Amino acid sequence: MGTTALAGLGGCSLPTAADPGERWLEQARIAGQAFFVGFGDRRLEEVLDTIVASGASVIEGDSNMSDLLSPMALGQTLDEIAYVTEKAHERNLKVVWYYPALEVITPNGELQDSSMFKDNPSWVQYNIEGKPNVFYGSKEHWVDPGAESAWMCHNSPYRDFFFDRVRRLGHSGVDGVWCDVPLYMDTVVRWVCTNPYCNDKFLAETGYAAPTREDWDDVAWRRWIHWRHVELDRFCRDIYTANAAELPNLQIICETVPLDYNQATVQALAGDFLGADAKNVGHVWEVDSVSNDFGMKPANHDDWLCKIRMFKFAKGCDRGRYCWVFTYGHQELDAGLVMAAAVAAGCAPYETQTPKMTTTVGVAFRKRMFSWIAKHQRALFDAAPAARAVVIQSSSSRDYSDQGKAEAMYASLGIDADETYWQHNDEQLLSAAPYLSEYTGICKVLSHAKVPFLIQPIQTLRATYLEDVSLVIAPSLACISDAQAALLLSFVRDGGTLLFTGDPPGEKDEYGALRGENAFAKALVGLGSGSDLQSAAVGRGRVYLSRQSLGRRYLNQSSTSAFDTVKGVCDKAIQHAVEIDGPPHVHSEHSVLDTSHLIHLVNYQGAMQSAAATSAYPFTHRLEELDAELKLRFPLPAGAKVNTVRGLSPDPQTPDGPLPYELVAGVVTLSLRVVQYRVVEISLTEASS
Ligand SMILES: [Zn+2]
Repeated sequence: MGTTALAGLGGCSLPTAADPGERWLEQARIAGQAFFVGFGDRRLEEVLDTIVASGASVIEGDSNMSDLLSPMALGQTLDEIAYVTEKAHERNLKVVWYYPALEVITPNGELQDSSMFKDNPSWVQYNIEGKPNVFYGSKEHWVDPGAESAWMCHNSPYRDFFFDRVRRLGHSGVDGVWCDVPLYMDTVVRWVCTNPYCNDKFLAETGYAAPTREDWDDVAWRRWIHWRHVELDRFCRDIYTANAAELPNLQIICETVPLDYNQATVQALAGDFLGADAKNVGHVWEVDSVSNDFGMKPANHDDWLCKIRMFKFAKGCDRGRYCWVFTYGHQELDAGLVMAAAVAAGCAPYETQTPKMTTTVGVAFRKRMFSWIAKHQRALFDAAPAARAVVIQSSSSRDYSDQGKAEAMYASLGIDADETYWQHNDEQLLSAAPYLSEYTGICKVLSHAKVPFLIQPIQTLRATYLEDVSLVIAPSLACISDAQAALLLSFVRDGGTLLFTGDPPGEKDEYGALRGENAFAKALVGLGSGSDLQSAAVGRGRVYLSRQSLGRRYLNQSSTSAFDTVKGVCDKAIQHAVEIDGPPHVHSEHSVLDTSHLIHLVNYQGAMQSAAATSAYPFTHRLEELDAELKLRFPLPAGAKVNTVRGLSPDPQTPDGPLPYELVAGVVTLSLRVVQYRVVEISLTEASS
């Protein structure tokens, strides 16, 4: 294959990527590549040159580390990884190598006498019924027929086996280890792990015996649900600390499949538990598509909102650190929009075609997107969010409300012809999950109202995160710890506005147990008992309470009164920095870099499935680009003058360039067209904040 010859550095003729610099993690553009045994030198050079030409800065390298390898096979693999890494480093590419944390595949393990599970039955995860978490054959797309997929208990002797292999992988010279799926898999059994190694630890730390059946009324069960999040979070940190003395610079990048939806309750890996203090460990989030085979092509409006919400949640979890996300798509139109939504949220893209890891939607597509992102990487990844509204996400409230019953990743149902669609029955839909639909509905109101917002997991909330925030919305925040409640109350007393919607707030603790006194009793005391919006002054701030599920009513019934109620509180609490007049299917974000305001506009109308088209996909459905026309109104901050106004866009129809605008009485107004993704950059001559 041919590659574009790029100017090498220092007289070297190798095609070489730009120096990735100190902030290579935050500004990563990631491409996956498989390197199998027998990969010749010539092929390796070609592949690496193509990756450089595509504009990637990081390789996710994949070989046979998923398989149970003999010591000799492992040695050979590590030699090859070291060689590939050296060649990639010559081209300025960073290398992160794929190694599943808790899944071990034994090829042909079904019929062989020896396999990971058969040789080490006490090392695997067990569920509450005592069944091992092991399966054979093609129950997942990455497990070949006849292979054994064994899910390992991280507290068993497997722990040292794994940490030692991470150590050896680290010594091969890679920059990081891509630790896939450190979680409790639920392909064949639910509710793990009750291996005695885990049970002993749970008992020692909580005083409860591990549960043997699912019972949400049982205090030990509820505690176990919470403990599993804590425990897997600790394990992710330990992957780094186990070898930190020998490999202090090695990055541990945990591939995290569940986002904020209910799979996190079942699989227990909850990325919101990893706070900003975690050292050398972070996330690459596998944000799935509605369909494994067709990406986001069959998605409807609310599915896209879920996608946007998940990216924003990921960024909220990774505050103060890099945030990598899969930008799975099927073809350019849906993949481009997925990447736009990710980048607008501040997430670094891993480009691949759903559902595989080392593919691409297209070399030309990757190059178009990555080169644009590289050109604007400071604006995209170093700008500070300017949102003044925060939506609180609460894993405890989700766990104890929704109880993992509906997966609720997306809003729409697939059709029978597409077996790879995530959800095939109503019980699995977003609408079947009370917590998640209230939380999503609030995000939908804010997105439609063009109110820029952040999603902040309550688990890692710090007082400093609320310093520039005017409004906190807490949908169905039933479960909360004393310390978390104190942070929100102090935010209000200092002048903030707090809006509660849905389930009564603060009735339970973080383990789902009813409290003697409501955690927000002091703030709620002045409120009446009606179902209309109630409000009371608290300190210098104000608390609002709606006993109605405003988010759910807007999500499921498009209730205008629910929308108006939430929007009304936003308008009272926030002095909007920018006003956007445009259709609901354009999502907006606002950030500030130096003296430039950046308004991100993501238009998902063209990639949105209509209800009428649903029955036709996947055989005849075609997406098309549909422009959106918008008007922006931006009152200049006091003392500021306009330097330039530009539109920045990876869309071929609207290349980067100046945007015409009017300036009247200190207000910038402009009209513009958005195909898929456009950033309005208003550059000021004086500091704007
Ligand atoms: Zn275990």
